[in-house]
Amino acid sequence: MRVEPNWLSEALCHLDGSHLLREKREVELLVGGRCRIDSRNLLDFSSNNYLDLARDPGVLSAAAEAVEAGLGAGASPLVTGRSPHYRLLEETLAEFEGTPAALLFPTGFAANLGTVPALVGRDDTVFSDRDNHASLIDGCRLSRARIHVYERNQLDDLDTALASSPQQHRRLIVTDGVFSMEGELAPLADLCELADAHEAMLLVDEAHATGVLGDTGRGSCQWHGVEDRVTFRVGTLSKAIGSSGGFVAASVNWIEYLWNTARTQIFSTALSPASCAAAIEALRLIVAEPDRRQVLSQRGIQLRSHLTSLGVEGVLDGAGPIVPIILHEPETCLSVARKLFVDGFLVAAIRPPTVPAGTARLRISLSSGHTEDDVARLAEAVAIALPASSALRD
Ligand SMILES: *Cc1c(COP(=O)(O)O)cnc(C)c1O
Repeated sequence: MRVEPNWLSEALCHLDGSHLLREKREVELLVGGRCRIDSRNLLDFSSNNYLDLARDPGVLSAAAEAVEAGLGAGASPLVTGRSPHYRLLEETLAEFEGTPAALLFPTGFAANLGTVPALVGRDDTVFSDRDNHASLIDGCRLSRARIHVYERNQLDDLDTALASSPQQHRRLIVTDGVFSMEGELAPLADLCELADAHEAMLLVDEAHATGVLGDTGRGSCQWHGVEDRVTFRVGTLSKAIGSSGGFVAASVNWIEYLWNTARTQIFSTALSPASCAAAIEALRLIVAEPDRRQVLSQRGIQLRSHLTSLGVEGVLDGAGPIVPIILHEPETCLSVARKLFVDGFLVAAIRPPTVPAGTARLRISLSSGHTEDDVARLAEAVAIALPASSALRD
């Protein structure tokens, strides 16, 4: 082994001392919103398996059948990677999304990282919500466009910034549909107004909303009734859809353009036929079994109401499957998450730099596999695990 530089151990010590060192866990996902860690079964309130499809028997057998066609795709989709399953998934996604076309990427992260730089470059401006996902932030940086970061509760400032950006150059607004760490929805109707008024493109990242929000599960754009006013809907196959991969849904010309320019799908091996087959079957189930979405939404309402009646403070408002509870300090967060773990609940402790300093939080992710009783028991365990100041005690 080569000698390591001193800064390496210092950096690790610093992370450890600030309670920011991430542990490595081995986790086996089970059905029913459960998982297994160290041969213990836990209620899983950490993964993004919102519709309980990641281990659905039908999804797994569709994937197993496709494995017969080979596991690796062999090359990028432009070369030989665009298998029959891949092509069918493109069509299935476009149909599901109600858009003329869709384009696949190796992951949702890669979809944002490839799409933003294909749309804007030097001299152009990209307008990005302060709480956007890392993949949008990195996509903006990689594009070399000017980046204007806005606060979604101060859209007048965004309006002014759009008006004063160079009109002869391209403008792109990028936002999460549901914010990963806040669980809050983006003000899409207002963003559409601004995009129309300033002739800007609008990209909405539906990672936490696809399959979850909207009448037929198309996401937050459908929930807000603005599907036709958004230029691009980016999604992931790895959350509610229970497989892996990412996609962009848009018009035929936009997809043709991205197929030719988005580097993360040009220079990366295509999704495997098995991942595609799993996603196709999951999309079929999402359409055929709308109950999954309704149950998930019920669980969100139930959890919030239990937490409120137990006097738990710091719960952020939202309509999606993510329920964050702000505990401020990383140390508090870790200790609460550890107590919950002992009680059989896996809940993520989200700490800086994932969220701003002073806003460390528990992040509860719900699944349609959870029962009403699971949610009630979680709320009680949270109320007991919190430090005295965070829950009202009588
Ligand atoms: C998870 C997530 C992604 C990345 O999707 P992957 O398929 O997991 O790479 C992108 N954007 C948002 C908002 C996400 O939450």
